[in-house]
Amino acid sequence: MARHPVLFVGHGSPMNAIEDNVWSRGHAALAALVPRPRAILAVSAHWESDGTFTTLDDPPPTIHDFGGFPAELYAMRYPAPGEPALARRAAALTGGSATDGRGLDHGTWSVLHRMFPAADVPVAQLSLDVRLAPGEHLALGRALLPLRDEGVLILGSGNLTHDLRDAFSRMRRGDASTPDWAARFDADAARALAARDEPWLVGALDTPDGRRAHPTAEHWLPILYAAGAADARDAVSFPVMGFDLGSLSMRCVLFA
Ligand code: ZN
Repeated sequence: MARHPVLFVGHGSPMNAIEDNVWSRGHAALAALVPRPRAILAVSAHWESDGTFTTLDDPPPTIHDFGGFPAELYAMRYPAPGEPALARRAAALTGGSATDGRGLDHGTWSVLHRMFPAADVPVAQLSLDVRLAPGEHLALGRALLPLRDEGVLILGSGNLTHDLRDAFSRMRRGDASTPDWAARFDADAARALAARDEPWLVGALDTPDGRRAHPTAEHWLPILYAAGAADARDAVSFPVMGFDLGSLSMRCVLFA
């Protein structure tokens, strides 16, 4: 079996799950860039925990982990099957624990609803251990690499820049311009990903632009799993680029 690509998706607003826009169309087009996976292991910004956990649920419930959105979004379900064997295998590879009673958060299902609308590829999710340093997240991504040889799509879901206060204030003001710090951090991240500059990726949030781009780390950490699971032979490309709400990078990264 050929080594499966790794994908990082900038998920942005949950509304991308129901709106037809440039981002939802971009997410839908990602499916054609990868072979059909046997199963998907998602690492989303929206599951933070003390320890590394994976979802045993089969099927995994759809979690509506957001507030103030239209009823149509709360009514959405993503009825993909779970994959308990993958959850156990990913837990074993990362020294984590497989657990049930969780489900898929919107960082996972809002994207998969576009990529695999038939919801017929089994999905497990892996949590972000909030106690770990960035380099440790990268190492866990590397530990997941063998899954690529088992037909598994490793899917990181976050955003390369994510300051919602800034984004919402731009939305209120009707200001769609991209601030310098966001443009610079997004471009620097793209350069570092293409160059396999792991020290930059690990230290990125300790820079002035990094602190500005990520007041909290959770939307950054999934790219460390994707970059960790990449190998030296993978070509790096950016099938989606640009900013939503001015400062929210929607860049997607394919390692294939
Ligand atoms: Zn998010």
